[in-house]
Amino acid sequence: MAATKESLLAWIERDRETLIEFLREFVRCASPNPPGDTRQAAAHIRKFLDAQRLAYRVIAPNETMPNIVAAFDCGAPGRHLALNGHIDCFPVEDESGWSQRPWSGALVDGKIFGRGAADMKCGTTASIFTFAYLHRLREQLKGRLTLSAVSDEETFGPWGARYLFEHHPEVFGDCCLNGEPSGPGTLRFGEKGPLWLAFTVRTKGAHGAYTHASKSATRIAANLIEALYKLTEMPAPDLGNLSATLDAAAPVIDTAFGPGAAQIVRRVTVNPGLVRGGVKVNMVAAECQFEVDIRIPNGLEAPHPVQ
Ligand SMILES: [Zn+2]
Repeated sequence: MAATKESLLAWIERDRETLIEFLREFVRCASPNPPGDTRQAAAHIRKFLDAQRLAYRVIAPNETMPNIVAAFDCGAPGRHLALNGHIDCFPVEDESGWSQRPWSGALVDGKIFGRGAADMKCGTTASIFTFAYLHRLREQLKGRLTLSAVSDEETFGPWGARYLFEHHPEVFGDCCLNGEPSGPGTLRFGEKGPLWLAFTVRTKGAHGAYTHASKSATRIAANLIEALYKLTEMPAPDLGNLSATLDAAAPVIDTAFGPGAAQIVRRVTVNPGLVRGGVKVNMVAAECQFEVDIRIPNGLEAPHPVQ
């Protein structure tokens, strides 16, 4: 195995410029979602795999959102590791706040800038190159390796990982490694479950001088949001040996995401990401809509007493 590690390190060192240029070009292949058209980004990956003479399949239930899947068996039987990463990214709402053009892949002070560079074309690039390197070493390894580079993730849409999970679940193997941004110091394992709720509060509404005439939809919404925050007080579930691992990783998690990050990893989080209500300052609001992003940690059972 030592020779294997040496080979890997030597290839990474030799390919440093290639890796950097691959990622910069990947960023330039704009793939904002919405609308989620990833054909250019997928073509970039295919070009690399073709050059490496690596076989792959394109699974595109939506032709603008292709998924690329490649796999190989090693020299001996063993477990199936899967590498998964998405190739779409968030859109750019306003370019004015950017120090570099968002689709430029600019290399400044040793850092690559651009929308999607961190989330997660960097991680997906790492998976693609890892796949190519391990393919060269496959006779010395055991098991099976699958790479899936997927579309339609940033809106949790149906045409990417979800489609593969429903129609080709084998691509996720016995264990799936994903290079979402976290930090080089630790592994994250298990994702929280998102529970997204949309509320609409309606009341009669009234002139702003006569607050006795109607309940305020915005005030009811504010009270509801405050009540939902109670969920964050639910005790962290016991995850057995994973709890000890998370405790040990806490300083690294806090370093990567800022102080407090380790605290919320195992707890319910509540984020009222969108609130829209009222028409005018001098009217009692007759309607308020809000959406709340609640994240449920691994191991939390329902029903669970809220303190
Ligand atoms: Zn991501």
